[in-house]
Amino acid sequence: MTNIKIDQIIRSKRKTLSLEITTDARLIVRAPRITSLSFIEKLILKKQLWIQDKQKLVKEKYAQSQSKRFVHGEKFLYLGNTYHLCLVNENTLSRFGEPVLFDEKFHLSRTYLPEAKRLFNDWYRKQAYQKIKERVDWYSKLFGLKYNKFGITNAQKRWGSCSAKNNLHFSLRLIMAPLNVIDYVVIHELAHTKEKNHSKRFWNKVRTMLPDYQESKKWLRKNGHLLVF
Ligand SMILES: [Zn+2]
Repeated sequence: MTNIKIDQIIRSKRKTLSLEITTDARLIVRAPRITSLSFIEKLILKKQLWIQDKQKLVKEKYAQSQSKRFVHGEKFLYLGNTYHLCLVNENTLSRFGEPVLFDEKFHLSRTYLPEAKRLFNDWYRKQAYQKIKERVDWYSKLFGLKYNKFGITNAQKRWGSCSAKNNLHFSLRLIMAPLNVIDYVVIHELAHTKEKNHSKRFWNKVRTMLPDYQESKKWLRKNGHLLVF
């Protein structure tokens, strides 16, 4: 079996099967009315690589199109919620002494616009460092799993990593995800301090610490490409 998810099967009077990857990377199968599900699944298995490649491409393209322009009212993600950007005149913000101010909205002074990307990067990084480290320390203590170093990276492809020396690193982008998803990645990497593989033993370990981890794992696979700025 493949672990490719069919998002929709549309049956009609057509004579042949066709696969479509939508602009949001969903897989739609069009099939004649009488085609059995097992026949469709066989086709998916055969076309597995093509589907995965195409979905990856679509997601990358989508991520690019999502890259922020830092205009008034634009949406930004933080801990799974969406917040609007509010551009303000400098004198309104100067009393806070911070270029990016967050309180149910992101406030950015117009004079900082040319550096907006870097400033948001700094802001996300700071939050990621604090929040994710807090979770790592909490679970590390709770389950007696010791780690060595902790760090935040700009990694685009991986959400977290655990080195041979048990140094843990997490992608800055993770701070845009809901807390239960962050917890899943944290526990995943902490479990690697004992099991340096993805064996059954490893997943059992993850499951005992976080029984509903599957949901977060799926969420990340489905929505990970949205965590960009
Ligand atoms: Zn892993």
